Amino acid sequence: MNEENNLNYIQENLKIVREKVSRAAYRSGRNPDDIKIIAVTKTVEPAKMLKAFECGITDAGENRVQELLTKHEELGSKCNWHFIGHLQKNKVKHIIDKAGLIHSVDSLSLADEINKRAVLKHKTMDILVQVNIAGEKTKFGLNKNEMKEFLHQVSKYSNIRTKGLMTMAPYDENPENIRWVFRELKKLSIDIMGERFDNINMAYLSMGMSNDFEIAVEEGANALRIGSAIFGRRQY
Ligand SMILES: *Cc1c(COP(=O)(O)O)cnc(C)c1O
Repeated sequence: MNEENNLNYIQENLKIVREKVSRAAYRSGRNPDDIKIIAVTKTVEPAKMLKAFECGITDAGENRVQELLTKHEELGSKCNWHFIGHLQKNKVKHIIDKAGLIHSVDSLSLADEINKRAVLKHKTMDILVQVNIAGEKTKFGLNKNEMKEFLHQVSKYSNIRTKGLMTMAPYDENPENIRWVFRELKKLSIDIMGERFDNINMAYLSMGMSNDFEIAVEEGANALRIGSAIFGRRQY
């Protein structure tokens, strides 16, 4: 088998994922075209990413700064880059002009640093606020009850535009058990829209991973972060 044939599983996986997304969208009365699949490419080599781009993927999500930088150098303008992992302040400067959307803003000090770096680059950085809906100690994100004060502060930054919310649901073999997490994030976004903060809209709800994206779609997700269902199980 040549290299190209080896990668056909990516095309097949994508077809399956897209069908599932479409069905979930129709079940909830939504248009599948309004739902973006962000291919989570952590640990995935560039050749496999290129295959996904060939199959119509336009967005890649990375959770480590160094990996994003290395791949950005090689693949640069071939996709939109999303930063989805925990972001340390001292690394913001490296990705400020490479990531199109940072999904994981979870503190004011991080937002402050992003704003400073964005000012220096004369750009407006799009961000999502990570919310820890389930209150898991092992996960990052703001608590629901911290959100309004946080957004009130973030709305003052000149070079940050908040475009929605992100959450990671706890892993559960039966994703029905975590439907409530997605429902809560959606409710929170509606609540926030009602507050009409400056510089803040709720265009994106980034929720749903390989294990739970169908339920996330049913509950209103429009930015899915899907890795292993596309590229296969990660080795490390
Ligand atoms: C790894 C990762 C994903 C994708 O996980 P899969 O289960 O492989 O789909 C989504 N979001 C974040 C923040 C991740 O780190």
